[in-house]
Amino acid sequence: MHVPFVDLRSQYQSIKPAIDSAIADVIRDTAFIGGKYVKQFEQEFAQKYGVDHVIPCANGTDSLYIIMKMLGIGAGDEVITVANSWISSSETISQAGAKPVFIDIHPDYYSMDETKLEAAISSSTKAVIVVHLQGQMCEIDTIKAICDKHGVFLIEDCAQSHFSSYKGIRAGLTGIAGSFSFYPGKNLGAYGDAGCIITNDGSLAEKCRMFATHGALKKHNHLIEGINSRLDGLQAAILSVKLRHIEEWTKLRIENAALYDQYLAGIPQIAIPKVRPGTVHTFHLYVIKAEQRDALAAFLKEEGIETFIHYPVPLPAMPAYQYLGYTPDDFPVTTALQPQILSLPIYPELTESQIAFVAESIRNFYKKKA
Ligand SMILES: *Cc1c(COP(=O)(O)O)cnc(C)c1O
Repeated sequence: MHVPFVDLRSQYQSIKPAIDSAIADVIRDTAFIGGKYVKQFEQEFAQKYGVDHVIPCANGTDSLYIIMKMLGIGAGDEVITVANSWISSSETISQAGAKPVFIDIHPDYYSMDETKLEAAISSSTKAVIVVHLQGQMCEIDTIKAICDKHGVFLIEDCAQSHFSSYKGIRAGLTGIAGSFSFYPGKNLGAYGDAGCIITNDGSLAEKCRMFATHGALKKHNHLIEGINSRLDGLQAAILSVKLRHIEEWTKLRIENAALYDQYLAGIPQIAIPKVRPGTVHTFHLYVIKAEQRDALAAFLKEEGIETFIHYPVPLPAMPAYQYLGYTPDDFPVTTALQPQILSLPIYPELTESQIAFVAESIRNFYKKKA
């Protein structure tokens, strides 16, 4: 049996007629840039997500950059984020002209450890970027309270947490703005690059929209210099079709995670993911902690099961951040977790027999080793 890490083909097969006709419509209308399909997705996403403003852009990295620029973050400022994330969360801090400051992650949930945040805030701190990693939100209430107390902006990187929630409030709706990626493998994914910003702040929304379109809300009326970061019509039309299925797909991810929990029960060498009380974890990733992780991953590969590590190197340990002078001791939790974490295949189309096969293979690996 082959179990790919993601299976975008089977999802396409399940909605092929709607996708094909959406693509044909965009081409018929030559609505490639801007236009009605982009507007329509914007409105549909805003309505379904429950937010006032959706600003589409080219990807989920630009969205972070645009938010920071429009909040006035720049030279001399510090922005705090986490050691365990994708580099978008920190490279955009530098792109905006500020200095990234990394803190450690929570030992149970692998995203920002809220108890480490306050000590990292300095007089230069302008913002905190939380990353709702793997589909599960951070302790956002505590983080928001700390940000408010110190007068710093809270920005939410929701690239892995579409429709996740904490105490009934969705990712991206607590901070000043939320940043989404619609990269194909994300829970809501386009067929190319795409992203957006969400916010309930009308003035920030207008600024972001302007900055993403060369600093002009009206053509040839450039109030500021901006960038070119557009969502194209084809991606918007595809996203509109997929948005109709997002609740169902999210439910299937959650059900598949529960099946993994069941099938993996009682293997002492691994730990299944913990769900933070009060959160709806939407399982962009299903990350286990495993003894002999690398040997296990190699064994699973031979069995036809693809796995990944999110992330193999903590961000502050990357060559790109050597200049900041961090050592592994600055991030004891991230450092200790790194050799243990393993992401198993998870997506709505994953079948129970595939899940059972993955679990059985893991069980066999440890039996052989015993
Ligand atoms: C995917 C991802 C991004 C970047 O999204 P792109 O659309 O690929 O630019 C940012 N942050 C996190 C945490 C991600 O997983």
